[in-house]
Parts: sequence; structure tokens; C-alpha cells
Amino acid sequence: MENIQVQEQSKNKKQQEVTKVAVAYGDGIGPEIMEATLRILDAAGANIRPERIEVGEKVYESGNSAGIEKSAWEVINRNKLILKAPITTPQGKGYKSLNVTLRKSLGLFANVRPVTAYSPYVETNFGGMDVVIVRENEEDLYAGIEHQQTQDVVQCLKLITRPGCEKIVRYAFEYAKAYGRKKVTCMVKDNIMKLTDGLFHNVFKEIALEYPEIESNSQIIDIGSARLAASPENYDVIVTSNLYGDIISDIAAEIAGSVGMCGSANIGSNVAMFEAIHGSAPDIAGQKIANPSGLINAAIMMLSHLGKTEIADTIKNAWLKTIEDGYHTADVYQEEITKEIVSTSEFATRIIENL
Ligand code: NAD
Repeated sequence: MENIQVQEQSKNKKQQEVTKVAVAYGDGIGPEIMEATLRILDAAGANIRPERIEVGEKVYESGNSAGIEKSAWEVINRNKLILKAPITTPQGKGYKSLNVTLRKSLGLFANVRPVTAYSPYVETNFGGMDVVIVRENEEDLYAGIEHQQTQDVVQCLKLITRPGCEKIVRYAFEYAKAYGRKKVTCMVKDNIMKLTDGLFHNVFKEIALEYPEIESNSQIIDIGSARLAASPENYDVIVTSNLYGDIISDIAAEIAGSVGMCGSANIGSNVAMFEAIHGSAPDIAGQKIANPSGLINAAIMMLSHLGKTEIADTIKNAWLKTIEDGYHTADVYQEEITKEIVSTSEFATRIIENL
């Protein structure tokens, strides 16, 4: 009895603890969805104290080629937590992606992307979909090691290491165990990239033996992603390398209803960063129509990570009730189901009313 009381007290203490978090408002729709998310956290009594950091376009334009102010590193290293809105990275030219820099410099090796269908409230053909993609986050073609060999020949290095594979594969099985998931699927292309993807696959087979209670299988990424798109309800946890994981998680989110819905966690040994899976959506920036759900779900993952599980559940339920009641942003509008198309901030207000 005494033990239960002590456990309850420490649980309550966790919910009430004030937690400082480095907060990046990002580019494009970033500031709009961040404001909405922080209002919800505040109204839910999450006791999150945001410390703003400057990253992204404005910093690049001021002549800082890293895209992040020096003072931001101090805030990140002190707080060990980041809530980040998307930032813009130019295509095919220009500065290096700050997302890649953050993930690499902070050792954020696991990118966890849960994708759930909320049918019929969000339109999808795949009502039973509930997949978690665990993406390796530091290696692979994403390491950004590119060379101009001659004027007409360029090269990009695909870097895969045994320690990197072991960390991510073990993380995927531990995640499955912790969240009561039944199966882990590995996706690789080792029929062609026999050494790099071959190493990932071999490590997967070795580590799977340590978790006999969890079903495991492997698929070649091309047919694997086709099957994921055709019958996502057959997948549970997927573990894969950086680039494949990036691609299949966007496919998964889109077929579940909208890329605007999903949050993600970037987990390292010392620091964790939470963000939406989508980008800065410059095409709708400033229009106040962006769906803040991706960042809200990322913030919910952050609260669970902090052990503030009751507040995480409260926000999740209020968010679910809001979409069930038919208050939708334009990206998930459905004639039959939507009661009212709401702006980014009206959506947040509806969630707050449901807390
Ligand atoms: P995007 O995800 O920004 O947008 C793709 C499409 O989805 C657009 O039509 C957009 O309007 C829509 N969309 C995205 N999020 C939405 C939301 N919350 N609500 C409603 N609609 C939404 O992808 P993109 O256009 O390829 O990339 C734009 C920029 O974002 C690029 O510079 C890219 O590098 C960057 N990016 C950043 C991150 C990050 O910071 N983690 C991730 C991906 C892309």
C-alpha cells in the first residue's frame, strides 16, 4: 500500500514538474503551428517552459551558414529537449540542411514516426492502419557526403556502420516490447547493395534472435513499400535506414489521411527532439490554414518521453474529440464529415475547450 502511494506521489510530481524546452519556431507555417501547440500545452497545465532558439532561413540570411545561432547550442545542451517546427532547406543547391546537422551533432540516432489512421474522421482507405516507422537517423546517403568527381560525375557516399545498425535495430525491438507491439519488419535493398544494406539486414537477423517473443520478418524496400501502401494494416513496427525511412513515412502518413497529422521523435542518448514529419509548407505559409496536428502529436510524444503521461493522454483525447466533432483544417476536409473548416488557431481553441 505504502509502495503504491509512493509511486502515485512520484507520478504526480512528474506531471507537475516544470520542464524547460528549447523551442524553434521554424520557417513557413512553422510559427503558426508552434503558437497553436504551445497554447495547448499551456492550457493543459503541461508546465513546459519554452526557451526560444533561432534557427532556419532568417539565421542563414543573416550570414550564418550553419542556420543556427551559437547561443542556441547552449540552450539545447542545457535543456536536452527540443520542440521544433519545420525549417526550409533549398533543393539541389544552397546551405546544408540544419535538420541533418541537428540530428548528427546531437547524436539523435532514432527517428520514431507513428502513423495511425483516424477513419472515418480523416479520409483514408486504410481504417486499421497503426504503424510505427523507426528510421535510422544519422547514417546512410543522408550523411550528406557528396563529391564532385569530374564536371559530369558526382558521387554520394552511403555510409552504414555495424554500431549504427545495432543501435537502431535494438531500439526498434525495445520500442516494440515497451509498447506491446507484436512484429518488427526490416526493410532493405540487400539484393543490390549487398554490403551496406546487407550489413543492416544481418544485424537485424542477429538482434531479432534476442527477442523471440516478437515476430520478425524482412522485405526488400521496393516491394515492401508497395505492400505498405496497399495493405498498411499488415504492418506493426518497421525498422529501416535513413533515406528509405524518410520516404516510406511520408507515404504512410499521406495514405493515413494527411502528412499534416503525424508527429515524430528524434531520440539520442542525451538529447531528444520532437517535430512534425512534414516540412515548412511554403505554399500555404501565412494563410492560417495549416494543420497543427503533426506538431501537437510531436508535443504529446515529448510529454510521454518526460513521463507526463496523464497530460499527454488528456491532450490526445481532446485532439481526438475535436476531429471526431468535425472541426477540421482544410487539408482533412470531407464534405460528409466536416462540421466546420477551422483555421490553425481556431483548431487549437477547440482542442483547449475539450481539455
Ligand atoms: P511539405 O511537407 O512542407 O509540404 C508538402 C505538401 O503538404 C504541401 O502541399 C503542403 O501545403 C502540405 N502540408 C504540409 N504540412 C501541412 C500541414 N501541417 N497542414 C496542411 N498542409 C500541409 O514538403 P515540401 O514542400 O517538400 O518541403 C518544403 C520545405 O520544408 C523544404 O524546404 C524542405 O526541405 C523542408 N522540410 C523540412 C522538414 C523539417 O524541418 N523537419 C521536413 C521536410 C521538409
